Amino acid sequence: MRIAMISEHASPLAILGGEDAGGQNTHVAELSAALAAAGHDVRVYTRRDAVDLPVTVRSPDGYDVVHVPAGPAEPVAKDALLPHMREFSRWLVDQWRGGDWMPEVIHAHFWMSGLAALAASRQTGVPVVQTYHALGVVKRRHQGVQDTSPARRIGYEQELGRAVDRVIAQCRDEVGELVRMGVPRSRMTVVPSGVNLGTFAPLGPAAEREDGRPRILTVGRLVERKGFQTVVRAMSYVPEAECVVVGGPPAGLLETDPYARRLRALAVSCGVADRVRLVGAVPREEMGRWYRSADVLVAAPWYEPFGLTPLEAMACGVPVVGTAVGGIKDTVVEGVTGDLVPARDPRALGAAIQRLLDDRIRRFAYATAARERARRRYSWAATAERLVEVYGDVAAVRRPTRVVA
Ligand code: UDP
Repeated sequence: MRIAMISEHASPLAILGGEDAGGQNTHVAELSAALAAAGHDVRVYTRRDAVDLPVTVRSPDGYDVVHVPAGPAEPVAKDALLPHMREFSRWLVDQWRGGDWMPEVIHAHFWMSGLAALAASRQTGVPVVQTYHALGVVKRRHQGVQDTSPARRIGYEQELGRAVDRVIAQCRDEVGELVRMGVPRSRMTVVPSGVNLGTFAPLGPAAEREDGRPRILTVGRLVERKGFQTVVRAMSYVPEAECVVVGGPPAGLLETDPYARRLRALAVSCGVADRVRLVGAVPREEMGRWYRSADVLVAAPWYEPFGLTPLEAMACGVPVVGTAVGGIKDTVVEGVTGDLVPARDPRALGAAIQRLLDDRIRRFAYATAARERARRRYSWAATAERLVEVYGDVAAVRRPTRVVA
């Protein structure tokens, strides 16, 4: 099939780890690669955010990345991108109408891509599949006044859910949220993200570690909702272990990063500073080394639309202690591949980590089951196959177009 991916702020080519870069970049890159490997013709449309970017870049994984001129050719925070979405969709329509490549389906990632996709669809009749990746209503609930999303985000997300041809929910928790938003259940299909089982495997090089000290690893953008403060506090209840935090700005910029400074100050006040190490951003191809060096992967977000890092750790055969939120409740099977604790509860988190560190047999059993679960249920090839079924279903239904002069 000819598939247009729209990922307005998250380029599959972007370096991961910045505040606006994370799982969506990985998701779009891996999904596009898996679809291309299955013989599909994939173009990923993302905003041109630097003057020297060529219009089209061929990814080594067999798909094209097209840089769409919409707004200034410089980095713009995603919360400031909404005004440029009209320009984004106009450019798409011009390209598709004027060229020799018309997609059979548009798969939009994130709500603003959905708006651009829907506008383009109204002119071309191409059906739209929507993955939200994150929901404004959940973000508002947890971040309150600190949520910097445009005020109309929640309303737009509701409208999108009723207007697109299919909504992809990434986990059961998201289905519940979408139903409460008024999105009809009949429009939804649950298709989880996948994990690259080649990159993330139990065998391979591992990052160095100190002798005799168990390693707790936690990974993600250095933002408050990822719960790193809870992890640092939990270290008081895990007296022997070291905690390695991977992610955030590159190592050289950690000194000046306000959140990294807060975490360091917290570690000092909890008396664990000598056992907490911030590594900074690590390139994607290096991530396996870090997972493999860990005894336990801790994922302690307040909320998590899907959460790739627990799954990546599982694929490497590393047990997970996670908070019982969002997608983590689907990927981690409590008592089988890891343990789940309530969010924002350092004592419960610390106790769960310590219990696992004290029990080598349980860790081994979790590790084996985790790898097996990742392998059987979360390959990108399987995710791509399920999505192609959805694409085929929506493409089989003709949509009306509104042609404008
Ligand atoms: N990641 C990375 N380098 C880092 C930190 C994270 O490559 O230094 C990757 C990580 O392996 C995962 C993604 O970034 O693939 C984070 O995805 P997740 O769903 O956990 O969080 P999000 O950033 O989407 O909220």
